[in-house]
Amino acid sequence: MTDQLDLWFDPSQCLIDGNWVAPAGGEYLPLENPSTGERIGSIARGTADDIDAAVVSARKAWQGEWGRTSAVERGRALFKLRELVLENVEHLARIEAIDVGKPLKQARADAVALARYLEFYGGAADKLHGDTIPYLDGYTVYTLREPHGVTGHIVPWNYPMQIIGRSVGAALATGNACVLKPAEDACLTALAFADLAIRAGLPAGALNVVPGLGAEAGAALTGHPGIHHISFTGSVATGVYVQTAAARNVVPVTLELGGKSPQLVFEDADLDAALPFLVNAGIQNAGQTCSASSRILVHRSIHDELVGRMGERYASLRVGPALSDLDVGPLISGRQQAIVSSYLDRGDDLEKAAQASLEDVPEGGNYVRPTLFSGVSSAHTLARDEIFGPVQVVIPFEDEDEAVAIANGTDYGLVASIWSRDGARQMRLARKIRSGQVFINNYGAGGGVELPFGGIGKSGHGREKGFEALYGFTTLKTVAAFHG
Ligand code: NDP
Repeated sequence: MTDQLDLWFDPSQCLIDGNWVAPAGGEYLPLENPSTGERIGSIARGTADDIDAAVVSARKAWQGEWGRTSAVERGRALFKLRELVLENVEHLARIEAIDVGKPLKQARADAVALARYLEFYGGAADKLHGDTIPYLDGYTVYTLREPHGVTGHIVPWNYPMQIIGRSVGAALATGNACVLKPAEDACLTALAFADLAIRAGLPAGALNVVPGLGAEAGAALTGHPGIHHISFTGSVATGVYVQTAAARNVVPVTLELGGKSPQLVFEDADLDAALPFLVNAGIQNAGQTCSASSRILVHRSIHDELVGRMGERYASLRVGPALSDLDVGPLISGRQQAIVSSYLDRGDDLEKAAQASLEDVPEGGNYVRPTLFSGVSSAHTLARDEIFGPVQVVIPFEDEDEAVAIANGTDYGLVASIWSRDGARQMRLARKIRSGQVFINNYGAGGGVELPFGGIGKSGHGREKGFEALYGFTTLKTVAAFHG
């Protein structure tokens, strides 16, 4: 299998107002294959002018044809888009694998998840409604859920298709018109999605896509006075920037900023059941997952047994190019490889319980060895920072109280899991752990599309997925009618 992209659209253009156009500044950015380091094409370097045109177009769509489209028709448009995504799963998966470096089976799962988001939100479009509220004699009071208007979507490079599904899918279902700025390192499936949206019959302006640099196109979108809501997934530092810029326009934001998610393994846990979840949640997508489980907290009495069994899995992991479809692919960029490598260096004082080997990986690719550290103190940098690579630390604890204190002891709170057969403990800890999602005897790495997802603390705020996302993409109007 070659790394030929075989695209059916021109990746160097933006989609604005239903047309494929060259970026206003006439400049382009190089596209690299993370598996090999080779240059594979160019993308548009969109600027503030392109963002401005996209926002104007989205406003026109929201106040025009798309805004007048009934909820049931919006749902049908998303179903049509879902069909097109499903017809193109293999094609989308291949593009994503080459562009992002994730093993083909993981890219395929992302494409299927995108279709599932469109199914869920397409089906929900005409089931979202307001309430009637009992009030004073002579009044009828009701609420209306209305779209914000123009929504901005800043999507990172780790799960482009899934994140587009969960944010753009929910925004379109509720009648918003969207401007999407994909990450410069991973915008091909966003452009493919835009092309499918045109084919699905979405009116011009309902979805605009402007690739470019975060500091240019992303910043222009975030600070644009014509945007009514921003949804952002990415780093804490950029999230702070996005929220600050949105605050100047007094615009609501949804921030999903990653985490340092723990899995708590007690002495009574079913280790056979837990093991695949413990390891997969750390190495999936080469650990570049907001809801990756990078901390394994284990009762001291079973620490060595657990480390030994996780270590066997690490030793058998196969790392290689995305199209070889092994267990772990390369990291997205040389920059990310440098970040993760520097964390591995900072773990030199720790016990490396296991490391996968790198055999036959192309020289120019951004590979790192998946690594498991054991007996780690919860105060160590590797136990506190989000590394965003295939690195896990095992931290021993003495009792339940200490386990909870360690679990809650970082700045983050996105996902956690409890592995124990004790039902009372499960219920107790599910309440005590500060986190947006808690799994009991499983780990969902973000969970299904039906399950509200989001963080507390520096993991962000607002909820995506499930019906909660639909509430987030609407604003509530109260109508109070006096009729005597
Ligand atoms: P960023 O947060 O910088 O990037 C995320 C998105 O924001 C990208 O689309 C990026 O565009 C855009 N962006 C960057 N700067 C701005 C800006 N000033 N205004 C508006 N948008 C902007 O993350 P990085 O890609 O730099 O990755 C760094 C670290 O962030 C990772 O190591 C990881 O820890 C974390 N991260 C977390 C993710 C998550 O899922 N929660 C996803 C990705 C990263 P562009 O890429 O074109 O610059």
